[in-house]
Amino acid sequence: MNLREIGEFGFIEELKKIYQYNNFDIIKGIGDDCAVFINEKNTAVLLTTDMLVENVHFEISTLSPKELGFKSLSVNLSDIAAMGGIPKNVLVSLAIPEKIDYEFLKDFYYGMDELINEYNMNLIGGDTNFSRSDLIINIVMTGEVEKDEVIYRNGAKINDKIFVTGYLGDSSLGLDVCLRKLKLDKYNENYFRNVHIKPKAQIKEGSVIAKSKLANSMIDISDGLASDLMHICCQSGVGAVIFENQIPYSEFMKNVFNQKNINPLDYALYGGEDFCLLFTVSPENKKKLCEIFQSHVNTNLFEIGEVIQGNRIELVDKSGDRKVLSKSGYRHF
Ligand code: ADP
Ligand code: MG
Repeated sequence: MNLREIGEFGFIEELKKIYQYNNFDIIKGIGDDCAVFINEKNTAVLLTTDMLVENVHFEISTLSPKELGFKSLSVNLSDIAAMGGIPKNVLVSLAIPEKIDYEFLKDFYYGMDELINEYNMNLIGGDTNFSRSDLIINIVMTGEVEKDEVIYRNGAKINDKIFVTGYLGDSSLGLDVCLRKLKLDKYNENYFRNVHIKPKAQIKEGSVIAKSKLANSMIDISDGLASDLMHICCQSGVGAVIFENQIPYSEFMKNVFNQKNINPLDYALYGGEDFCLLFTVSPENKKKLCEIFQSHVNTNLFEIGEVIQGNRIELVDKSGDRKVLSKSGYRHF
């Protein structure tokens, strides 16, 4: 069967059915942002891995080696943030083609060091291989969080309010800028390029939400709002409604939207790599969680919709009409 027929997420669902766990230390296997198991201190250990493939996830001509190192680590950090964890250890495996020289690799590691130092992490291993043409980066990361604070994708409840922790769409618009599909003035180009190239995972935000113990479900937005909200819905057995006029856009996005004929909604729903967090919270706990968040984190929370019965995502557009969203975000095949 062609992999396109089953799709990336269909393939993962198949794996989930096959591999069941009879080891009670494993709390979560396939299906969330990280696997979760319990260590001897009775703390939840998070384990995640992500691969970045040249010409699929990045193009060497569009970012520096240091930026590539930073981004490779951010992608993994974001999955730790999505479970409410604090990052601990990292392993880095590389398949290196001939065009990559020693200086490139040194700068790549300097880029990672910026985050390794910031979060006091340990780089504890990896693997080094030769590649025939493309650079391939695979990172494994561990994190920790108190057992009763982990937030999973599968806890969303009907009537929960849906929140995001940041602006949507800027990163995928930044990708269009990097790929020269979109031409803007230098000032705007720099902003969008930087958001795309140097994403900052929301570790503090995720941890504050987890410590509050008030959120019912959480995921990081890596594939676009539509796709990632669908993961929460599928895993929780619920549907969702989102309101177009509540989707948060940066001032930069609003400016570009006015200048050019661009629909920010497409970027928000189907673009990727915003790396902010999407979570759900009951109507009763919403106010308290917002207060806790605002007192610890210097950024805004945005309420964009609510959890409903069913298995689909509906969008209420600016004129109040409802339509069902197609779930496609970024797909590998
Ligand atoms: P994310 O976008 O948060 O990194 P993914 O969509 O890549 O998450 O993966 C979803 C789940 O499927 C995760 O639990 C991940 O570990 C698991 N998964 C993905 N690919 C594979 C694979 N090839 N084999 C086993 N599990 C996989
Ligand atoms: Mg994720």
